[in-house]
Amino acid sequence: MIVEIIIATILGLFTGSFLNVVIYRLPLSICTDATIDLINPKRSFCPVCKQKLSALELVPIFSYLAQKGKCKHCGTTISWQYLIIEAMTALISALIVFMFGITTESGFYLLLAWLLIPLFVIDLKEQLLPDVLTLSLMWIGFIYQMQFGDLQNGVIGAMVGYLLLWSLYWFFKIMRKKEAIGYGDFKLLAALGAWIGWQAIPQLLLGASVLGLIFFVVSRTKKDQAFAFGPFLIIGFLFVKLFTLSSLL
Ligand SMILES: [Zn+2]
Repeated sequence: MIVEIIIATILGLFTGSFLNVVIYRLPLSICTDATIDLINPKRSFCPVCKQKLSALELVPIFSYLAQKGKCKHCGTTISWQYLIIEAMTALISALIVFMFGITTESGFYLLLAWLLIPLFVIDLKEQLLPDVLTLSLMWIGFIYQMQFGDLQNGVIGAMVGYLLLWSLYWFFKIMRKKEAIGYGDFKLLAALGAWIGWQAIPQLLLGASVLGLIFFVVSRTKKDQAFAFGPFLIIGFLFVKLFTLSSLL
């Protein structure tokens, strides 16, 4: 068991390092810079001096220990975000293997976590939910349902998730002439619906809306200021998923 968890932690560290690349590069490749994508340039670089990183520097935990959180070439402080994402990915991966062992089921949950982490952070930072992540999440959700749930449930979940937010979008657009939610949110809820089935969507949306509302009030977001809804959908999903899992145990 200990060995399995150590393997999961190491795997999580490397995946977390890759997720940092996804989080940094995917929005750039979509919005601004056509020369950057997930595989080009091959090596990660310092965002400030563009100096390519050595193999050891690629893993933020090592570079933090060795270089005290600064770029070796230009001395720019490396954002804590890289370290947090890497550590979180390792922790969550270890937790999944601790709960489900090395099984097909934990394989699905690892993929789920590794897609939700970049979606959460990219939406929070850029208010963007890239299709490549939401759609992958949906297809993997269908395969998961085939194995461990009910495919029909998942397909209806995806449809209900998409159509609910789609109708809400048009309602606001026609009635208030405002775009309250984005197309990315429809696809995200479709993907999450695929994973939990249509019956759980009301709870998910209720949780997400309550959290979103609390955040809206506490953070004093201005009325017309856009804020990302994706992270709230993801937290709502986790509540529902963890609740169903714990009631099964
Ligand atoms: Zn630098």
